[in-house]
Amino acid sequence: MPDRRSPIQDFLEFLHAKYAEFREGEVATYIPELAATNPECFGICVATADGFVYEVGDSRQRFTIQSISKPFVYGLALDERGPEHMLTKVGVEPSGDAFNAISLHKTSGCPLNPMINAGAIATTGQIGASQPEPCFKRILEMFSRYTGHAMHVDEAVYESESLTGHRNRAIGHLLRNFDVLEGDPTAAVDTYFRQCAISVNCVDLALMGATLANQGVNPLTGTRAIKDTHVRSVLSVMASCGMYDFSGSWIYNVGMPAKSGVAGGVVAVLTGQLGIGVYSPRLDAQGNSARAIQVCRELSQAWQLHQFNPPFCAHTSRRMRCTGAERHSSRVRHPMERACLGEHGGQIHLVEIQGNLAFATAEPIIRDVVGCTGRRRGVILDFHHVTGINHVAAQLFAELADTLSHQGTAVFFTSTQQLPLLRQEVASHLADASAVEGLFRFRSTDAALEWCEDDLLRELMPTGPLKVDDLRVFEIAAGLADEELGVFSGLIVRRSYGPGDYVIRRGDEATSLFLVTMGVVGVWLGDHENGNRVASFSVGTMVGEMAFLDGARRSANVVAEGAVECALFELQDFNRLLETHPQLHTKILRNIGVSLATKLRKVNEDMRILIAERE
Ligand code: GLU
Repeated sequence: MPDRRSPIQDFLEFLHAKYAEFREGEVATYIPELAATNPECFGICVATADGFVYEVGDSRQRFTIQSISKPFVYGLALDERGPEHMLTKVGVEPSGDAFNAISLHKTSGCPLNPMINAGAIATTGQIGASQPEPCFKRILEMFSRYTGHAMHVDEAVYESESLTGHRNRAIGHLLRNFDVLEGDPTAAVDTYFRQCAISVNCVDLALMGATLANQGVNPLTGTRAIKDTHVRSVLSVMASCGMYDFSGSWIYNVGMPAKSGVAGGVVAVLTGQLGIGVYSPRLDAQGNSARAIQVCRELSQAWQLHQFNPPFCAHTSRRMRCTGAERHSSRVRHPMERACLGEHGGQIHLVEIQGNLAFATAEPIIRDVVGCTGRRRGVILDFHHVTGINHVAAQLFAELADTLSHQGTAVFFTSTQQLPLLRQEVASHLADASAVEGLFRFRSTDAALEWCEDDLLRELMPTGPLKVDDLRVFEIAAGLADEELGVFSGLIVRRSYGPGDYVIRRGDEATSLFLVTMGVVGVWLGDHENGNRVASFSVGTMVGEMAFLDGARRSANVVAEGAVECALFELQDFNRLLETHPQLHTKILRNIGVSLATKLRKVNEDMRILIAERE
């Protein structure tokens, strides 16, 4: 075994050493073959919901699954026959009786739950009735999906139980009498004996648990073992009836759905987190592995694994919240526009959401958006850090978007590529396909924010600087006397570009600085088509001053978005000014410095919002 010095491994080893000395209980002998088991065997395994396995002791020792097969076969029956049918055959009430009690419902004759023998035999009897393939083959395949490898029967244990299992045969006949089983009851009982004799080890059990913890998908193989909608039904019967008539105390103290078997195995599941497999053959008076009970109880306490002690708080689903006054898009804008956004950007709301979204984690976000006061022109919900979303949360967000749009707010869901369910749910909720398109129109939050800013500026500055001829508008000309402006203007060359034209090419020598006098230019890392648009520049802004100052080659492509006009200022003219008009040279140099400082300040502000305000 690899050396895994982790506090988790250390704790499992500590528990194993501690309870190796614990020798209470007796090995089951009513199935003769089980009596031959070595009572000292003791293994523990914990498998996380993402498939990491911790193991200690005899974790690879094989033993028969026995009753631990029951919830898994019940899951298969739910998949094959459906919950409605299964509920007509087997109940879901704890019986309070021993596992092998002949307890059937007084009037219907149905077993009280699928975890007692009567319920398990009835469940096994339901598999096969509708499917031509041999029933036991499908049971074995089902277990393989959970464990990730082929499964086998311990023939000696099967023979042994088959020769002595008269009580279970009697139960089979009673079930036939009440028509819970149809056809030959001995076939169902025989399949049940076989399923109980399937050979497993602790790692198998822990992975079976982890698969249930992972919504029914084996985390190592990615194979679905059971329909996701049936996982909760299986875990429910494990929680209420899984530990024989110790089930109440178990769920009260340990708090994890679990199932034990007379061979000495226990599987426990904590949804979303882990599966546990423990093996030790000495059983207590209720028929549960005595050591496994102690180990699971201590694990639950030490790691706070009780399911009614959930590990997250709802408010952690909001990663960051800000307005368009605090955070700006990567569009570099003229100071007038920046001032306008600073004043009115509060009408644009941006929320970054994180984690797994279900009712409890979606609700605080919705409450936040609904509750924000003042005018809401745009709402951007960024799902980049959302790892999963369920139907309820997706539907709540769809309804929120619908309501806000009807109130005249532009809503955008961004960075949703990893959440196909969200789009499906929104599409099924909103009849209008164009509304769905609109909602998912921007992949990135930056693009949505840029759109919201443009929209706001269009309304607030309708006569804004769409085209400027006066160079005074540019920061580079700030503080120039009329005469100096005349000299500067005389050095300027005007140039026009069509949509998609390259204004600057990456790698080019920097020979000029560009003042955008009409339109918008985008800055691209990589190709215009395939790369990333990292920033853009509006009318009244200056592009390319960095390379202009330090002489480095151009670091990105700059491409015209629509019709663009620029005023070009050549580096050689700028250098010449040092001799001809040194004061003007200094002023221009200072203005370029101020412009760079403004850009840097914006970057700092974005960082501050990202880091300091992250909740
Ligand atoms: N095959 C065993 C029986 O039916 C399983 C019992 C159990 O593990 O609880 O008696």
